[in-house]
Amino acid sequence: MTSCEATSLYSPVTGSGDCLTRSVSPDSGPSTLDSTADVGCCSRVEASVQTLSLLSTQELLSLFECPVCYEYILPPAYQCCQGHAICHGCKRKLSHCPSCREELGNIRCLVMEKVGDTIQFPCKYALQGCGLMLHRSRKTTHELEECEYKLFECPYKFIDNCLEWSGRADKVVEHLMLVHAENFKREHGNLKPFEGPVFPLVAYVQVIDYQAENNTTSWMWTALQTCYNAIFVVNIYYVHNSLINVHFVTVRLVDTVDAAKKFQYEIRLEGPNGELSYRGRCHSLHEEVKEIYENRDCLQFDSVTAAKFKAETTVDGARQPVLNLSIKILPLDSGLHEIEAL
Ligand SMILES: [Zn+2]
Ligand SMILES: [Zn+2]
Ligand SMILES: [Zn+2]
Ligand SMILES: [Zn+2]
Repeated sequence: MTSCEATSLYSPVTGSGDCLTRSVSPDSGPSTLDSTADVGCCSRVEASVQTLSLLSTQELLSLFECPVCYEYILPPAYQCCQGHAICHGCKRKLSHCPSCREELGNIRCLVMEKVGDTIQFPCKYALQGCGLMLHRSRKTTHELEECEYKLFECPYKFIDNCLEWSGRADKVVEHLMLVHAENFKREHGNLKPFEGPVFPLVAYVQVIDYQAENNTTSWMWTALQTCYNAIFVVNIYYVHNSLINVHFVTVRLVDTVDAAKKFQYEIRLEGPNGELSYRGRCHSLHEEVKEIYENRDCLQFDSVTAAKFKAETTVDGARQPVLNLSIKILPLDSGLHEIEAL
């Protein structure tokens, strides 16, 4: 492959070496690409370079489309021994080329990577309305952290099996109130978001004996808090199975990851046996709860700790175990992740 990789980006295809067997006329247009399908490993890409100036942006970008996932092929780009390009994500999952069925080796497509470095790609959320064109080095960060057109998923997607819904930030609360009103009524007695940066709440929790390993259960408690012209989704989760027994709390802004980085929160847990406080950075509703939990980037405590802070209240004449939590959201300054048990 050395001879392919060393070929100058814009040099004519001469047919020398093992992998280049056909010369391509510079003015033969995009149709030339198909005529090279049966030749050496780099011919297809070299032909693409030859015709760059004749292609519209759309045609050029279509050359970068992965034939499997239709995402753009960005570095590291791969190809089969026949020259069919494939993105690195799909290459990892496949053993054979989807175009010609040849076995996929470990052949990089450096020419494609170099050409890709000279052009701008549309944001992944172009269909949703984002008009930005970005260099590949900025594309992923923009899509993950900054793009305001990325749609939100429902916070109840696993709890109420609401897997299909997605919507813009201004539709999230409306959706929760319309479709998941029952959960809110059960958890708070009303549908209104809490207002203001300080958020006292009483979460009704099951405090289960840490030793009761047969007792497999999990639940999620949700509240909304509005402050600083923004809306935050607060969740308390409890997961108990043979492997783990944990409560954890997430505070996620209904906005981009970039916007969420500007806020932090403090949780205070108060009970008859003391007080616990935790300070953490706010996440975005785009960030997966599982990931936040696995990165230990939130308050987590087991049932032994929960039992220490357990209080009781009367609901409909019955005694209920509760956790008294207050959450304060504030702009980010300093002192993240301090935890102290008083
Ligand atoms: Zn792909
Ligand atoms: Zn192939
Ligand atoms: Zn975008
Ligand atoms: Zn939903």
